[in-house]
Amino acid sequence: MDYTQILTQIHHDIRPLLGKGRVADYIPELGKVSPHHFGMALVTPDGQTWSVGDAAVPFSIQSISKLFACTLAFGLLGEDLWRRVGREPSGNAFNSLVQLEYEQGVPRNPFINAGALVVTDVLCSRFVQAEAAVVQFLRRVSGNMAIDYDVAVAESERQHADRNRAMAYFMKSFGRIDMPVEAVVNAYCRQCAIAMTCEDLARAALFLANGGVVPWSGERVLDPSPTKRLSALMLTCGTYDEAGDFVYRVGLPAKSGVGGGIVAVLPGECAVCVWSPALDHSGNSLAGVQALEWLTTLSGHSIF
Ligand code: GLU
Repeated sequence: MDYTQILTQIHHDIRPLLGKGRVADYIPELGKVSPHHFGMALVTPDGQTWSVGDAAVPFSIQSISKLFACTLAFGLLGEDLWRRVGREPSGNAFNSLVQLEYEQGVPRNPFINAGALVVTDVLCSRFVQAEAAVVQFLRRVSGNMAIDYDVAVAESERQHADRNRAMAYFMKSFGRIDMPVEAVVNAYCRQCAIAMTCEDLARAALFLANGGVVPWSGERVLDPSPTKRLSALMLTCGTYDEAGDFVYRVGLPAKSGVGGGIVAVLPGECAVCVWSPALDHSGNSLAGVQALEWLTTLSGHSIF
């Protein structure tokens, strides 16, 4: 596959879209990022990397962290994780409270905020610092030991986390959160504030395209069956309330974040990350979705 030619063409053709959409500013620190960035990196299990644009510029991974936190929690609890969080698309906004009341505080899936808070609660009960466990994991699976969370973004997020706090307290009232809410919310804010590049994220997600094993280190992160299950959840729940349209257009399991990043995997073949901060109405990177649609269209490769 001539990924050099495909990524170069995408980088060229995407230009009219850059700056269209809106940068998330409900976390003020995120609102400072230029909407004109665009980066894309694709890695294969044999160690090759293709990248264009701002693929080496760190950005706030935000909800993409939910994928890796969930990987850790799934590894720890196995199928018992699903007693605490569901596996269905929510059909609601990522930060919605409404379903929680009539579903007795059990979030629909681990990729909406309520579900991610439950996952962080699991990690808080197992690790002294849950966010440090996620950072360490990301360093290991990406091979970049310099990865860390951005203190300014984490603080900005913590100061504007009242809705997340409300969700966590609400779930605690149903007995669904074990640890102190403030500790869970703080760990969650730091985890979302982790900064990584497209190249880091594509490498970090490669184990999902490789049956659960990090190709260059040989570390088994998950067995093949949970790897399949996690990728299935990405497909149905990973791109906000627009997962159906995303799958229609792109045809890959993916997880996006309000920092404008999207990580996607093609099992057996590659992992890819695209970043452009301006978001469409559903919260996915507007240029990022288009770039991934072109990638699978031009290469003719998707999971379908
Ligand atoms: N930290 C963000 C929040 O809790 C994550 C949102 C996202 O990327 O979907 O609102």
